[in-house]
Amino acid sequence: MSRSVLVTGGNRGIGLAIARAFADAGDKVAITYRSGDAAELEKAGFLAVKCDITDSEQVEQAYKEIEDKHGPVEVLVANAGVTKDQLLMRMSEEDFTSVLDTNLTGTFRVVKRANRGMLRAKKGRVVLISSVVGLLGSAGQANYAASKAGLVGFARSLARELGSRNLTFNVVAPGFVDTDMTKALTDEQREGIVKQVPLGRYAQPEEIAATVKFLASDDASYITGAVIPVDGGLGMGH
Ligand code: NDP
Repeated sequence: MSRSVLVTGGNRGIGLAIARAFADAGDKVAITYRSGDAAELEKAGFLAVKCDITDSEQVEQAYKEIEDKHGPVEVLVANAGVTKDQLLMRMSEEDFTSVLDTNLTGTFRVVKRANRGMLRAKKGRVVLISSVVGLLGSAGQANYAASKAGLVGFARSLARELGSRNLTFNVVAPGFVDTDMTKALTDEQREGIVKQVPLGRYAQPEEIAATVKFLASDDASYITGAVIPVDGGLGMGH
Protein backbone atom coordinates (compact mmCIF):
# COMPACT_ATOMS: atom_id res chain seq x y z
CA MET A 1 0.00 0.00 0.00
CA SER A 2 1.35 3.40 -1.00
CA ARG A 3 1.28 5.85 1.90
CA SER A 4 1.62 9.62 2.03
CA VAL A 5 4.98 10.22 3.71
CA LEU A 6 6.57 13.55 4.67
CA VAL A 7 10.25 13.89 5.51
CA THR A 8 11.34 17.34 6.67
CA GLY A 9 14.81 18.28 5.48
CA GLY A 10 14.59 15.47 2.94
CA ASN A 11 16.69 17.30 0.37
CA ARG A 12 20.05 16.07 1.67
CA GLY A 13 21.90 13.99 4.27
CA ILE A 14 19.97 11.65 6.52
CA GLY A 15 16.61 13.06 5.38
CA LEU A 16 17.34 12.26 1.74
CA ALA A 17 18.32 8.68 2.61
CA ILE A 18 15.07 8.32 4.57
CA ALA A 19 13.02 9.76 1.69
CA ARG A 20 14.70 7.34 -0.74
CA ALA A 21 13.99 4.36 1.52
CA PHE A 22 10.25 5.12 1.57
CA ALA A 23 10.13 5.91 -2.16
CA ASP A 24 11.92 2.63 -2.97
CA ALA A 25 9.20 0.82 -1.02
CA GLY A 26 6.52 2.45 -3.20
CA ASP A 27 5.31 5.23 -0.89
CA LYS A 28 4.40 8.73 -2.09
CA VAL A 29 7.12 10.85 -0.57
CA ALA A 30 7.03 14.60 0.02
CA ILE A 31 10.11 16.35 1.30
CA THR A 32 10.69 19.86 2.55
CA TYR A 33 13.68 21.83 1.36
CA ARG A 34 15.01 25.34 1.77
CA SER A 35 18.20 25.09 -0.28
CA GLY A 36 19.15 23.03 -3.32
CA ASP A 37 17.59 22.18 -6.65
CA ALA A 38 13.88 21.33 -6.42
CA ALA A 39 13.85 20.18 -10.05
CA GLU A 40 16.48 17.52 -9.28
CA LEU A 41 14.44 16.32 -6.28
CA GLU A 42 11.26 16.18 -8.35
CA LYS A 43 13.16 14.23 -11.02
CA ALA A 44 14.06 11.73 -8.31
CA GLY A 45 10.32 11.22 -7.75
CA PHE A 46 9.76 13.34 -4.65
CA LEU A 47 7.20 16.06 -4.14
CA ALA A 48 9.56 18.88 -3.14
CA VAL A 49 7.90 21.55 -1.03
CA LYS A 50 9.74 24.68 -0.02
CA CYS A 51 9.35 25.15 3.72
CA ASP A 52 11.24 26.65 6.60
CA ILE A 53 9.96 24.88 9.70
CA THR A 54 10.58 27.95 11.87
CA ASP A 55 7.68 29.63 10.05
CA SER A 56 4.17 28.33 10.90
CA GLU A 57 2.68 29.88 7.76
CA GLN A 58 5.16 28.02 5.54
CA VAL A 59 4.39 24.79 7.39
CA GLU A 60 0.67 25.32 6.78
CA GLN A 61 1.24 26.01 3.06
CA ALA A 62 3.47 22.93 2.73
CA TYR A 63 0.81 20.68 4.25
CA LYS A 64 -1.87 22.13 1.99
CA GLU A 65 0.24 21.34 -1.08
CA ILE A 66 1.05 17.82 0.14
CA GLU A 67 -2.58 17.06 1.03
CA ASP A 68 -3.65 18.32 -2.35
CA LYS A 69 -1.19 16.10 -4.24
CA HIS A 70 -0.65 13.06 -1.99
CA GLY A 71 -3.50 13.16 0.52
CA PRO A 72 -3.12 13.62 4.30
CA VAL A 73 0.27 12.71 5.72
CA GLU A 74 0.20 9.20 7.20
CA VAL A 75 3.88 8.94 8.08
CA LEU A 76 5.80 11.96 9.32
CA VAL A 77 9.56 11.94 9.78
CA ALA A 78 10.68 15.11 11.55
CA ASN A 79 14.31 15.16 10.52
CA ALA A 80 15.21 18.80 9.82
CA GLY A 81 17.76 20.10 12.28
CA VAL A 82 20.67 22.47 12.77
CA THR A 83 23.69 22.96 15.00
CA LYS A 84 25.24 26.20 16.23
CA ASP A 85 28.01 24.91 18.46
CA GLN A 86 29.63 27.13 21.05
CA LEU A 87 30.85 26.88 24.62
CA LEU A 88 28.29 28.23 27.07
CA MET A 89 30.44 31.27 27.93
CA ARG A 90 30.33 32.38 24.31
CA MET A 91 26.86 31.10 23.40
CA SER A 92 24.49 33.98 22.71
CA GLU A 93 20.82 33.77 23.52
CA GLU A 94 20.17 33.78 19.78
CA ASP A 95 22.50 30.78 19.30
CA PHE A 96 20.43 28.95 21.88
CA THR A 97 16.91 29.96 20.89
CA SER A 98 17.42 29.59 17.13
CA VAL A 99 18.57 25.97 17.51
CA LEU A 100 15.63 25.24 19.81
CA ASP A 101 13.28 27.00 17.39
CA THR A 102 14.32 24.72 14.53
CA ASN A 103 14.98 21.39 16.23
CA LEU A 104 12.29 21.39 18.92
CA THR A 105 9.65 24.03 18.17
CA GLY A 106 9.96 23.33 14.43
CA THR A 107 9.23 19.69 15.16
CA PHE A 108 6.24 20.76 17.27
CA ARG A 109 4.93 22.78 14.30
CA VAL A 110 5.10 19.93 11.80
CA VAL A 111 3.84 17.26 14.22
CA LYS A 112 0.91 19.39 15.34
CA ARG A 113 -0.17 20.00 11.75
CA ALA A 114 0.17 16.32 10.81
CA ASN A 115 -1.84 15.32 13.82
CA ARG A 116 -5.02 16.78 12.35
CA GLY A 117 -5.16 14.32 9.43
CA MET A 118 -3.87 11.42 11.50
CA LEU A 119 -6.63 11.82 14.08
CA ARG A 120 -9.19 11.88 11.32
CA ALA A 121 -7.69 8.73 9.76
CA LYS A 122 -7.43 7.10 13.20
CA LYS A 123 -3.85 6.05 12.44
CA GLY A 124 -0.46 7.63 12.01
CA ARG A 125 3.25 7.11 12.45
CA VAL A 126 5.57 9.83 13.66
CA VAL A 127 9.34 9.40 13.89
CA LEU A 128 11.52 12.15 15.34
CA ILE A 129 15.23 12.34 14.61
CA SER A 130 17.05 13.13 17.85
CA SER A 131 20.73 12.41 18.53
CA VAL A 132 22.96 10.41 20.84
CA VAL A 133 24.12 13.74 22.30
CA GLY A 134 20.61 14.51 23.51
CA LEU A 135 21.11 11.81 26.11
CA LEU A 136 24.90 11.79 26.55
CA GLY A 137 25.42 15.56 26.48
CA SER A 138 28.20 17.13 24.49
CA ALA A 139 30.58 19.96 25.44
CA GLY A 140 29.97 22.91 23.13
CA GLN A 141 26.52 21.68 22.11
CA ALA A 142 24.30 22.64 25.06
CA ASN A 143 21.71 24.19 22.73
CA TYR A 144 21.67 21.24 20.33
CA ALA A 145 21.68 18.59 23.10
CA ALA A 146 18.85 20.35 24.95
CA SER A 147 16.77 20.46 21.75
CA LYS A 148 17.39 16.78 21.02
CA ALA A 149 16.64 15.71 24.62
CA GLY A 150 13.46 17.78 24.41
CA LEU A 151 12.28 15.64 21.52
CA VAL A 152 12.24 12.59 23.79
CA GLY A 153 9.87 14.21 26.30
CA PHE A 154 7.79 15.56 23.46
CA ALA A 155 7.43 12.16 21.73
CA ARG A 156 6.75 10.28 24.95
CA SER A 157 4.07 12.75 25.99
CA LEU A 158 2.34 12.39 22.64
CA ALA A 159 2.68 8.60 22.78
CA ARG A 160 0.63 8.74 26.00
CA GLU A 161 -1.76 11.44 24.78
CA LEU A 162 -2.59 9.85 21.43
CA GLY A 163 -1.86 6.14 21.78
CA SER A 164 -5.55 5.37 22.17
CA ARG A 165 -6.11 6.98 18.76
CA ASN A 166 -3.74 4.51 17.08
CA LEU A 167 -0.92 7.00 16.59
CA THR A 168 2.67 6.03 17.42
CA PHE A 169 5.51 8.42 18.27
CA ASN A 170 9.07 7.16 18.31
CA VAL A 171 12.51 8.68 18.42
CA VAL A 172 15.62 7.61 16.55
CA ALA A 173 18.88 8.71 18.15
CA PRO A 174 21.71 8.47 15.60
CA GLY A 175 25.37 8.60 16.56
CA PHE A 176 27.81 10.20 14.13
CA VAL A 177 26.67 10.00 10.55
CA ASP A 178 28.59 10.91 7.44
CA THR A 179 26.74 14.05 6.21
CA ASP A 180 27.35 17.79 5.71
CA MET A 181 26.66 18.29 9.42
CA THR A 182 29.69 16.22 10.45
CA LYS A 183 31.89 17.28 7.51
CA ALA A 184 32.38 20.52 9.43
CA LEU A 185 34.51 18.59 11.98
CA THR A 186 38.31 18.48 11.65
CA ASP A 187 40.06 15.17 10.84
CA GLU A 188 41.39 15.17 14.39
CA GLN A 189 37.87 15.53 15.84
CA ARG A 190 36.59 12.77 13.57
CA GLU A 191 39.38 10.40 14.64
CA GLY A 192 38.65 11.20 18.29
CA ILE A 193 34.97 10.34 17.82
CA VAL A 194 35.62 7.12 15.93
CA LYS A 195 37.84 5.90 18.78
CA GLN A 196 34.87 6.10 21.15
CA VAL A 197 32.47 4.21 18.88
CA PRO A 198 32.50 0.44 19.55
CA LEU A 199 31.83 -0.26 15.87
CA GLY A 200 34.79 1.99 15.03
CA ARG A 201 33.25 4.04 12.24
CA TYR A 202 30.66 6.63 11.29
CA ALA A 203 27.18 5.53 10.17
CA GLN A 204 26.01 5.91 6.61
CA PRO A 205 22.69 7.80 6.27
CA GLU A 206 21.06 4.64 4.89
CA GLU A 207 21.66 2.88 8.22
CA ILE A 208 19.53 5.50 9.99
CA ALA A 209 16.90 5.32 7.24
CA ALA A 210 16.46 1.55 7.71
CA THR A 211 15.43 2.01 11.35
CA VAL A 212 13.06 4.87 10.53
CA LYS A 213 11.43 2.76 7.83
CA PHE A 214 11.01 -0.10 10.30
CA LEU A 215 9.32 2.18 12.88
CA ALA A 216 6.80 3.23 10.22
CA SER A 217 6.13 -0.35 9.13
CA ASP A 218 3.46 -2.82 10.23
CA ASP A 219 6.19 -4.80 12.01
CA ALA A 220 6.50 -1.91 14.50
CA SER A 221 2.78 -1.66 15.24
CA TYR A 222 3.26 -2.17 19.01
CA ILE A 223 6.22 0.19 19.44
CA THR A 224 5.56 3.70 20.74
CA GLY A 225 7.43 6.12 22.98
CA ALA A 226 10.67 4.29 22.21
CA VAL A 227 14.09 5.84 21.75
CA ILE A 228 16.08 3.69 19.35
CA PRO A 229 19.81 4.30 19.25
CA VAL A 230 21.51 3.84 15.87
CA ASP A 231 24.93 4.88 17.07
CA GLY A 232 27.41 2.02 16.68
CA GLY A 233 27.24 1.49 20.46
CA LEU A 234 28.41 5.02 21.37
CA GLY A 235 25.59 5.74 23.80
CA MET A 236 25.24 2.29 25.37
CA GLY A 237 23.56 2.46 28.72
CA HIS A 238 21.28 5.42 28.24
P1 NDP B 1 22.39 18.17 7.26
O1 NDP B 1 23.01 19.40 7.82
O2 NDP B 1 23.06 17.42 6.17
O3 NDP B 1 20.89 18.48 6.80
C1 NDP B 1 20.03 19.20 7.64
C2 NDP B 1 18.67 19.23 6.99
O4 NDP B 1 17.77 19.98 7.82
C3 NDP B 1 18.68 19.91 5.63
O5 NDP B 1 17.79 19.27 4.79
C4 NDP B 1 18.19 21.31 5.97
O6 NDP B 1 17.57 21.98 4.88
C5 NDP B 1 17.16 20.99 7.03
N1 NDP B 1 16.83 22.16 7.83
C6 NDP B 1 17.60 22.81 8.70
N2 NDP B 1 16.95 23.87 9.22
C7 NDP B 1 15.72 23.88 8.65
C8 NDP B 1 14.59 24.72 8.77
N3 NDP B 1 14.57 25.79 9.56
N4 NDP B 1 13.50 24.43 8.02
C9 NDP B 1 13.49 23.38 7.20
N5 NDP B 1 14.54 22.55 7.05
C10 NDP B 1 15.64 22.81 7.76
O7 NDP B 1 22.16 17.25 8.52
P2 NDP B 1 22.00 15.66 8.70
O8 NDP B 1 21.39 15.06 7.51
O9 NDP B 1 23.28 15.17 9.22
O10 NDP B 1 20.98 15.66 9.92
C11 NDP B 1 19.61 15.35 9.80
C12 NDP B 1 19.04 15.22 11.20
O11 NDP B 1 19.76 14.20 11.90
C13 NDP B 1 19.18 16.48 12.04
O12 NDP B 1 18.05 16.64 12.85
C14 NDP B 1 20.40 16.20 12.89
O13 NDP B 1 20.38 16.93 14.08
C15 NDP B 1 20.25 14.70 13.12
N6 NDP B 1 21.48 14.02 13.47
C16 NDP B 1 22.58 14.06 12.65
C17 NDP B 1 23.73 13.40 13.02
C18 NDP B 1 24.96 13.39 12.19
O14 NDP B 1 25.99 12.89 12.66
N7 NDP B 1 24.95 13.87 10.96
C19 NDP B 1 23.80 12.66 14.29
C20 NDP B 1 22.58 12.67 15.06
C21 NDP B 1 21.47 13.33 14.65
P3 NDP B 1 18.45 22.92 3.92
O15 NDP B 1 19.23 22.03 3.01
O16 NDP B 1 17.44 23.69 3.18
O17 NDP B 1 19.35 23.74 4.79
